[in-house]
Amino acid sequence: MVQTKDARTSKLIPPLEEVKALAAQFEGKAPEDIIRWTFDRFGGRAAFCTSLQSGGMVILDMLHKVDPSARVFTIDTGRLPQETYDLIDRARERYDMPIEVYSPDHQELSTMVEKHGVNPFYRSYSLRLLCCEIRKVNPLNRVLAEMDAWVTGLMRTQSSTRANVQKIELDDAHGGIVKLNPLADWDSKQVWDYIRENDVPYNALYDKGYTSIGCAPCTRAIRPGEDERAGRWWWERGMPKECGIHLSPRRNGNATKAGAKE
Ligand code: SF4
Repeated sequence: MVQTKDARTSKLIPPLEEVKALAAQFEGKAPEDIIRWTFDRFGGRAAFCTSLQSGGMVILDMLHKVDPSARVFTIDTGRLPQETYDLIDRARERYDMPIEVYSPDHQELSTMVEKHGVNPFYRSYSLRLLCCEIRKVNPLNRVLAEMDAWVTGLMRTQSSTRANVQKIELDDAHGGIVKLNPLADWDSKQVWDYIRENDVPYNALYDKGYTSIGCAPCTRAIRPGEDERAGRWWWERGMPKECGIHLSPRRNGNATKAGAKE
């Protein structure tokens, strides 16, 4: 791959034209091939970021088979359900892979809590975004500042804000690094077929009607007929079901908003 040096970050960033060509090539490739390509290409400058949801566990299982030395990390917002903490430990045991855990900045958290209380998210959309920013987005930004590429479990079928996700794109929200979405063209059935066929560990909340799992106070099980992400920030109406970590990928030469904010 021909690379150019990004003046702001001094990172090696592949040119957009090359990323677009790779996106076309990757469209027909299996997730394992894209995962292998990523860690062959970027080594320790790439990492898989997961909240250990069903798609993330599929990628973790594939990653373990393809390159068990690959970096894996998660963001502990401090408000995760106990079932998610349990899964982190079960995943460590099953795969014998270190899962790096990153936390919010203590000072940022204290300032928010002193000013807005411990549960500000129920009071307004802007306070919900503030909480997501401090507990999720900022810790992620700090990790990705050291990376040239990251892998996510995004799928086009998850929501309208994710409908145009490419298997490889440039992530303008994180300094133009490469973002890989190996399951972009998968759906929930494929994910659960893989989990059952490969006996992949999964979050116990899925057996209680949850279909998307984030922080405990902001996630509930869905009701019949609701879409997959309806249980996230369920009290909000008409707002994108996004937290802000999947913003502004460059897909077709133009910066776009994947979801204004989660
Ligand atoms: Fe805060 Fe809820 Fe966002 Fe978690 S999901 S960071 S608790 S607003």
